[in-house]
Amino acid sequence: MEAYDLGVIGAGPGGYVAAIKAAQLGLKVVLFEKRERLGGTCLNIGCIPSKALLSSSHLYAQIVNESASHGIRLGKAELDIPAMMKRKEQVVEKLTGGIASLMKGNKVTVVRAEASVPAPGRISAGGDEYRVKNILLATGSVPVELPFMPFDHSSIVDSTDALAFEAVPKRLLVVGAGIIGLELGSVWARLGSEVEVVELLDDLLPDWDRQAAKLMRRELTTQGLKFSFKTKVTGVRNEKNELILEAEDSSGKAREFRGEKILVAVGRKPAYGGIDLESLGVRTEKGRIVTDADFKTSASGIYAIGDLISGPMLAHKAEEEGVALAEKLAGKAGHVNYAALPGVLYTHPEAAMVGRTEEELKAEQRPYRKGVFQFGVNGRALAGGESAGFAKVLSDAETDRILGVHIVGDHASDLIHEAITVMEFSGSAEDLGRSFFAHPTLSEAVKEAALAAYDRGIHSL
Ligand code: FAD
Repeated sequence: MEAYDLGVIGAGPGGYVAAIKAAQLGLKVVLFEKRERLGGTCLNIGCIPSKALLSSSHLYAQIVNESASHGIRLGKAELDIPAMMKRKEQVVEKLTGGIASLMKGNKVTVVRAEASVPAPGRISAGGDEYRVKNILLATGSVPVELPFMPFDHSSIVDSTDALAFEAVPKRLLVVGAGIIGLELGSVWARLGSEVEVVELLDDLLPDWDRQAAKLMRRELTTQGLKFSFKTKVTGVRNEKNELILEAEDSSGKAREFRGEKILVAVGRKPAYGGIDLESLGVRTEKGRIVTDADFKTSASGIYAIGDLISGPMLAHKAEEEGVALAEKLAGKAGHVNYAALPGVLYTHPEAAMVGRTEEELKAEQRPYRKGVFQFGVNGRALAGGESAGFAKVLSDAETDRILGVHIVGDHASDLIHEAITVMEFSGSAEDLGRSFFAHPTLSEAVKEAALAAYDRGIHSL
């Protein structure tokens, strides 16, 4: 039996990145994946296919709604959903194939089989057993199912199904106004579906900056998405080939919503891939594996990262945890700075955030300064016809250290990183505001917000 320093179970962004980094640091690594393709949820049925469809549907919406205002007249745009899906698959194929090459290049042994852990130090897969010094559990997560509304994967669907509809549903009901519900709701609304989102809470993006959430609600409503907040879904029935979603509002009044399909997007839960945590002595709390700051579980030699452990279920969180864990196993100082972990909503406009919100700072009674700049007066945004949005910089009232940045607008997912880099160096609003920013760029909105936080903006009053 061959012996390895590290056995990684699950080839998502957490597992495959940990495997690469550990191999780069000289450890002998074996990676187990039960899917045919590497890359996990993110590459196969998450981040990447959703962004491929968001791009295709955005292009369609731009052609239909905006080309005339740019002075471009086109004939009637026609949708070819199978071609759109084929393109999405090609993107996924290319990226997952790339991960396989990275494994080869880094000399990571890949075993394509479901793995189990009979005991610490041993992994079984595909009829073979592997001796491993350390085990990393990175088996990810699956969608939460509502008990009274099980997925049938055709009319009551999860996010994976909603990434592969064969035709545009006439009416799509989305349960849950979280990121996945809003992104996939946007895709199908842009392509012509009547989309109605039903949400238990009183607004979308509950943990985000309220100004950002309010603007996103307005923009998405303008694009045709309908929202019913403070509405609890209680059941579903089928009537004359139509689904009736049963719900009640906050006063207990019954409500009904009609649709052709229902996307249930109420969150995700860790998936342990058949691994018997109890027999191994791996402790869980509220369904997640408990780890210490070194990603150690309560069982000796067994570690966990990514969607399995506490914190937001995000690919970049899983990746950084994978890197830090590999470094720790190789005797180096691995570290994840969760205070600079960004969140992004890839709708149109996009929204991105990092650090503290105003609401959190107020609750903590921490004095702060605020600078806001509207994209409506940013030259590049206007030139591109993308004037909805703002950048907001929050800094410590005394030290000027940046505490949080919130952006709604075109390319917010990219713009947030200039703030993250400054935050990584414990930088100030003045550091950001005094930096060169090429003109004309959307990034100048971030510079102006930083200027306004520590002094006064130049292009705003
Ligand atoms: P996963 O990516 O879930 O990988 C776990 C892997 O383990 C899977 O491939 C699984 O097959 C394998 N596995 C499980 N059990 C076993 C076993 N016993 N043996 C062998 N293999 C096993 N995050 C972002 O940051 N940005 C986004 O834009 C984004 N968009 C998303 C859109 C959608 C629709 C969804 C569903 C998710 C999205 N996410 C996004 C979340 C992101 O995909 C996850 O946070 C991320 O994939 C978690 O990585 P992970 O490595 O922990 O697990």
